[in-house]
Amino acid sequence: MKAHDGMYIGGEWRVAAGTDTIAVVNPADEQVIAHVPAGVAEDVDAAVFAAHEAFPAWAATPPAERAARIAALRDVLVARKDEIAETVTAELGAPLQFSQMVHAGVPILVAGSYAELAASYAFEEKVGNSTVYAEPVGVVGAITPWNYPLHQIVAKVAPALAAGCTVVLKPAEDTPLTAQLFAEAVHEAGIPAGVFNLVTGLGPVAGQALAGHPGVDLVSFTGSTAVGKQIGATAGAAVKRVALELGGKSANVILPSADLAKAVGVGVANVMGNSGQTCSAWTRMLVHTSQYDEAVALAAEAAAKYGDRIGPLVNAKQHTRVRGYIEKGVAEGARLVAGGPEAPREQGYFVSPTVFADVTPEMTIAQEEIFGPVVSIIRYEDEDEALRIANGTVYGLAGAVWAADDAEAVAFARRMDTGQVDINGGRFNPLAPFGGYKQSGVGRELGAHGLSEYLQTKSLQF
Ligand code: NAP
Ligand code: MG
Repeated sequence: MKAHDGMYIGGEWRVAAGTDTIAVVNPADEQVIAHVPAGVAEDVDAAVFAAHEAFPAWAATPPAERAARIAALRDVLVARKDEIAETVTAELGAPLQFSQMVHAGVPILVAGSYAELAASYAFEEKVGNSTVYAEPVGVVGAITPWNYPLHQIVAKVAPALAAGCTVVLKPAEDTPLTAQLFAEAVHEAGIPAGVFNLVTGLGPVAGQALAGHPGVDLVSFTGSTAVGKQIGATAGAAVKRVALELGGKSANVILPSADLAKAVGVGVANVMGNSGQTCSAWTRMLVHTSQYDEAVALAAEAAAKYGDRIGPLVNAKQHTRVRGYIEKGVAEGARLVAGGPEAPREQGYFVSPTVFADVTPEMTIAQEEIFGPVVSIIRYEDEDEALRIANGTVYGLAGAVWAADDAEAVAFARRMDTGQVDINGGRFNPLAPFGGYKQSGVGRELGAHGLSEYLQTKSLQF
């Protein structure tokens, strides 16, 4: 797609307030593919004003009509799915097939789910002598990361629109073209002017202006824990609603009764998909001591098979950072059994699929979010130790448990401090609430729980 040189505000592409631009780089070959405007506080002001003006009419639009507009948006995403996949591949680097299936496919599912939920949700209920109305919170400031560029946008904008909120989006600086494409889709879908607005720009400038803007009623942020803490503090000081979807260090717990080959194979694939840039990736594999050596061999083999099928990391900074973590793992005494810190290609921000054995729970690579294709295999002696290790980080976003039967896996999963657990390879469900325990965040996205984040209640007594 062709990049826009303005901001999408009030239903049109407007000239940016400043003259600075952001260069968009293809991480597979390090070439600049486009420039987009770097927004400043004035752009954010204009966008928040447009969202504020559009709010009363959109909030008063019957849910069935809001649902119809979201369904139209879903249809535009379907019609443009090849272009979406090509755009994500160009600016994120994901292999085209993965972009088609996941980066284009999942947002279509999620948009469709909110078209249905907007039409069927009970925005009004009777509680004794009261009628309780679920009303939209107001203007939403959405700040999104680059790792699933369209999914992260749709997971915020679709429920916000379904609720009757209006939105200003500040997407990640690395993936603004996907966000511009989304703005085009909103326009084509006939969503009224000002209901959705886009300001591209840098986090500490445009992002910070949006998060602290007095005209924003709710901030929804996905990204690093460091920035999330700052946004939470700013929102708290203004007594403003906030949703934070932050990092993870999720455990893939393989109980001794499990199908080991399957659990290891699916576990490695879960991390390597999107080059390890998935907040809910199961980056710690927990294996019983009796099966440890076999699991290590299987994981090394699975990672080696990935070889060239893995995409690059998003940018040079992440390339340096992830390889730094791999060096740190070696320095702290973990044993490399696949991959390593050397860049496998001269051009592009590639990292080899990497597996560490003999990782102990307190090592840096077992505690911090690496956000690259790195699996750490940790040994446990009994189930209680496995649980202590699984729960032994500041995070609690996701996880997996494998056992001979679901009931055994469920019993373990119920003791995990984490927001979602896949049982014996359970499939992604776009209606299931997604979000974290502990420092993985505040609030939930997707499905009816995701919709309720954008609603507040008003009780009338009779
Ligand atoms: P990040 O800085 O937290 O980026 C997330 C979003 O917040 C981007 O739109 C970013 O803008 C914006 N932002 C940055 N500083 C801000 C500020 N002071 N105020 C308001 N908004 C701000 O994350 P990152 O630098 O891209 O990645 C760093 C690490 O974060 C990764 O290695 C990974 O560990 C983690 N991460 C987690 C997720 C997740 O899904 N949970 C996603 C991405 C990254 P810019 O794009 O301009 O920075
Ligand atoms: Mg950043």
